[in-house]
Amino acid sequence: MTLPLVYHPIYSELDLPPAHRYPISKYRRLYQYLQDTLNIEQHPAIRLFQPEPISVDEIKALHDPDYIDALFSNALPAAKMRRIGFPWSEQLITRTCMSSGGTKLTVDLAHQYGLSIHLSGGYHHAHKDFGSGFCLVNDLALAAKHALTLPGVDTVMIIDCDVHHGDGTATILADEPNVITFSVHCEKNFPARKPDSTLDLALPINTTTEEYLNAFEGLLPLALAQYQPDLVIYDAGVDIHQDDELGYFNVCVEGIYQRDHLVLSRCREAGIPVAAVVGGGYRHDHQLLVNLHAQLIYSAMNILELG
Ligand SMILES: [Zn+2]
Repeated sequence: MTLPLVYHPIYSELDLPPAHRYPISKYRRLYQYLQDTLNIEQHPAIRLFQPEPISVDEIKALHDPDYIDALFSNALPAAKMRRIGFPWSEQLITRTCMSSGGTKLTVDLAHQYGLSIHLSGGYHHAHKDFGSGFCLVNDLALAAKHALTLPGVDTVMIIDCDVHHGDGTATILADEPNVITFSVHCEKNFPARKPDSTLDLALPINTTTEEYLNAFEGLLPLALAQYQPDLVIYDAGVDIHQDDELGYFNVCVEGIYQRDHLVLSRCREAGIPVAAVVGGGYRHDHQLLVNLHAQLIYSAMNILELG
């Protein structure tokens, strides 16, 4: 059994103002933490992959070309940059294209190996012609469209368990019947407007670990049985955690492990390849996020019986 992990050091290479709330260093910290706890660089069952940046043409095939041209040339109006939430820089564009390339590569590896994990990704608030909530380009939608070009993949399901609703993904893919969007999120949280996904599971503020797992476990098998996807893209956002600064759920770290294990094991039982991305997670002390994101890798290791 082999677990492919996709990572590039430039994911964390972005200079931000000191008080900026995006935990940009978490990707580098997560990689280092996995090296420290699992020795991923020498682990016999783990293979590391570095992505290539996704091409501008591929992005423009999904997003509005005028938006992408303006975004990439620093010509977006100030209000549109504020909605994204990052100051413009060449670094920002470079890491965005690399991260979308990473999610695409993770889909290819899932198709080949059955399960793969991207140590970035999940930019689900990026819409067709504008960015929002730290998301410029929708890597999940791009990867889902790419997945449909692979042999034997006629239906893709995006299971988005980030605490925030997957609004950009839902709208970009609204006219794509072969991609099923399934968002599990907090009913009263960003974004204020939540356009319909194919499936939405909206849970109240202060949802506990038990309530979360019961609700999700009640719907996931039905969703998989009804739509029978040939490949799943899983956003394992950890902003469902009780201490997250942008989430309002009461889920503990063990609950994150159980949620991830549930998705990966149910898909494995059904023979569905899974490409997982780490998604959101917000703490001022970025180091506090890495053990939460690591639960995804630990659950994958358990399912593949890699210890
Ligand atoms: Zn989120």
